[in-house]
Amino acid sequence: MENHRTEITNDIAQSIRNFLNGNNYSKIAVICDENTEAHCLPKILDALPEHYLLRIDSGEENKHLGTCEQLWMALTEAGFDRKALVINLGGGVIGDMGGFVASTYKRGMDFLNIPTTLLAQVDASVGGKLGVDFNGYKNHIGLFAEPQTVLIDPSFYSTLPERELYSGFAEVIKHGLIYDHAYWDKIKSVDVISAKWSELVARSIEIKKEVVLADPFESGKRKILNFGHTLGHAVESYFLDKGEDRLLHGEAIAVGMICEAYLSYKFTGLTTDELEETVTYLIKIYHPVAIDKSLFDEIVGLTLQDKKNEGGRVQFSLLNAIGKCQVNIPIYAPDMLDSLFYFNKLVGSN
Ligand code: NAD
Repeated sequence: MENHRTEITNDIAQSIRNFLNGNNYSKIAVICDENTEAHCLPKILDALPEHYLLRIDSGEENKHLGTCEQLWMALTEAGFDRKALVINLGGGVIGDMGGFVASTYKRGMDFLNIPTTLLAQVDASVGGKLGVDFNGYKNHIGLFAEPQTVLIDPSFYSTLPERELYSGFAEVIKHGLIYDHAYWDKIKSVDVISAKWSELVARSIEIKKEVVLADPFESGKRKILNFGHTLGHAVESYFLDKGEDRLLHGEAIAVGMICEAYLSYKFTGLTTDELEETVTYLIKIYHPVAIDKSLFDEIVGLTLQDKKNEGGRVQFSLLNAIGKCQVNIPIYAPDMLDSLFYFNKLVGSN
């Protein structure tokens, strides 16, 4: 897989002009949602030549084939050919779905990603994973394909709801924990609201790129990116249809990282001090609340469904130390339950 170009910029309009000057596209479509149309499009409008604006409704609930069909239809009706360009302006939902639409339309056309959330900039922007949810299964239909370029401008966060910013920050924290102790130390000193993001985003992207390049199709090392995500995804899935109580991705991953740090202490050599340091910080940032213990079996059941579960065990990615992660550690249901009890005890209930 080719490694695409990522540019971190503080002048997004100029970066777009530079990109377009070096290319000659037959037509351009910009995919956005109502939020990125209102808050992000004005920042790039000057740099865009004549284009089609394809607006979809925001939210994970719209990341499905029905929305793709609408987009494919709009491209077809506007007479787009393979020499045209799609610009994805939005968070991870638009990046994943817009990229999928572009790379399957007429067997693939170029797309330019302009991620506008912290999560999309530090995580979804690297690795070439594209796709949509299907029949309740997350990211079930999709492919690997790379955008021509990813243009990253942290100034987009100024309009991002605070909760979304913190949600993306969970992936930044994960990058320090799995890969770079010095980065973790730096992260701990950051004030999320007033952070100077360019440097942090650059280091996070660098880490994700290094990991992905070493294992583009997720057969080994790339699984270190799953730290916090096995139990985290199960918690996220459980709360997905819980309306107001729904957890954002990063909030669920923070719970997952606490549980999986505990499993790392139990099985892969994370020391007591490192466990303490990790969970104290995650609690300070996310203030997670206890999970009703009557839900534990269901949450553990979701991990067993989600991954290869030969003999009732799930392969976890766990920390050997802060900054070092090991993949394919088999964990059985009773230990997962134990980690959830640990989580509840820590946050003060049950
Ligand atoms: P999102 O795309 O739903 O965006 C979150 C919300 O913020 C939306 O309501 C959006 O309209 C709004 N928004 C976006 N930018 C804004 C801005 N600058 N100002 C104001 N509002 C803005 O969610 P997300 O957290 O960015 O991404 C989550 C998605 O990313 C999930 O579907 C997940 O599966 C996917 N993802 C993919 C990868 C990958 O490797 N491809 C990695 C991680 C996550």
